[in-house]
Amino acid sequence: MDKIVSQFLAQVNARNQNEPEFMQAVTEVAETVIPYIVQQDIYYGQNILLRMVEPERVVSFRVAWIDDNEEIQVNRGYRIEMNSAIGPYKGGLRFHPSVNLSVLKFLAFEQIFKNSLTTLPMGGGKGGSDFNPKGRSDTEVMRFCQSFMTELFRHIGPNRDIPAGDIGVGSREIGYLFGQYKRLKNEFTGVLTGKGVSWGGSLIRPEATGYGVVYFTQQMLDHQNDNLEGKKIVISGSGNVAQFAAEKCIQLGGKVMTLSDSSGYIFDPDGIDEEKLAFIMDLKNVKRGRIHEYAEHYPSASFHSGKKPWEVPCEIALPCATQNELSGKDAELLIKNGCRCVGEGANMPSTPEAITLFVKNKVLFAPGKASNAGGVAVSGLEMAQNSLRYSWTREEVDQRLQTIMKDIHQSCIQFGTEKEQVNYVKGANIAGFVKIADAMLAQGVV
Ligand code: NDP
Repeated sequence: MDKIVSQFLAQVNARNQNEPEFMQAVTEVAETVIPYIVQQDIYYGQNILLRMVEPERVVSFRVAWIDDNEEIQVNRGYRIEMNSAIGPYKGGLRFHPSVNLSVLKFLAFEQIFKNSLTTLPMGGGKGGSDFNPKGRSDTEVMRFCQSFMTELFRHIGPNRDIPAGDIGVGSREIGYLFGQYKRLKNEFTGVLTGKGVSWGGSLIRPEATGYGVVYFTQQMLDHQNDNLEGKKIVISGSGNVAQFAAEKCIQLGGKVMTLSDSSGYIFDPDGIDEEKLAFIMDLKNVKRGRIHEYAEHYPSASFHSGKKPWEVPCEIALPCATQNELSGKDAELLIKNGCRCVGEGANMPSTPEAITLFVKNKVLFAPGKASNAGGVAVSGLEMAQNSLRYSWTREEVDQRLQTIMKDIHQSCIQFGTEKEQVNYVKGANIAGFVKIADAMLAQGVV
């Protein structure tokens, strides 16, 4: 079996040189899905995984725009249309200086499995730019978004490809992108998700990824007759996902001890309560400040410059910042300090070494493609509401989100149980694969 997997990976690697993040994501899937494929007559010999790792289409384009000093800036924009077997391409846009083809292909590849797990009719895609919105004025961000959409608009549409937010793309950016799309097409359609509630957005969409991570974590604990009440929780990041993961943990009685950004983490031994979280939301979303300002405002807290929060003893860890933020060494430390459950809010935040350690030490480990699927699930619900020209209540959307997260957990149990242990990585990969593979087989050699 190892030989079949390594031959497959060598073949993919030969075609995707210098794309380490993409190969990391493909390797994790290949190691769990190929052993399953070889046991299934309907999939074996169809080269389905080889087809899945090849994007259906990759668009790369120039984004020229004028900054506040009237200098011309040039960035690179991308859209990866990975797989449309089960629905139109769906996945976020990331604006961050680290964006390149490898990062977006890994995200697009993960996205097809995640979207399949939601059971909603969405294919997988991802896009973005190496543009850094940090430190830019609102008008600079607007001019960039308008230039970006002036090319992207011809590749997307409500039945073709429906982008959303991701790192560096929040409600402000979605607004500017939507405004420009509408201007170019002269039509008001659900072409982007994460829209404002007054212009076609869904209630609970901002909260959905973070809430979903916690609902999934709750399911894993419940399966072990445990819950979140009184648990010490360490969270990384302080953006959209981290903020609402923290909010839901607090609501369910957990003690949130940390949040972070790329400059370091804050540790509050008293726990971050609702009032303190409101301070962080205002700091990050309105003032666009840095997380160290929390420690200056609350004397009980400390700021740890250049460090990651995994050194803080906890029972539950929720990495919600970015890929490969949790290394093998971090995992060792977490396990040594008593961590028993990890729910990934970010995409691929744990390195392969960290995942191996978690699984070996029987830490409940939820891979992002399962545990952070709540965001795209509610995006799917936003698309449905746009098509119906109707809005569901907060309670209705939240209820659907909880049901979807519960069902994803159940799929992981169905496909990932081995020797009475649930391997959530295997479960998520195989459950996601089956639905896409069946659709691809039915649609012929495409
Ligand atoms: P935001 O831009 O709102 O926040 C990102 C957070 O992560 C910030 O605190 C940022 O700090 C930190 N961060 C980013 N890059 C790094 C880095 N290289 N090192 C350390 N910290 C970093 O993004 P989101 O919260 O939306 O996304 C977070 C993660 O969740 C991503 O992996 C994303 O793909 C994933 N995700 C998001 C979904 C969504 O609905 N938004 C859906 C599913 C997954 P700083 O401000 O200093 O850069």
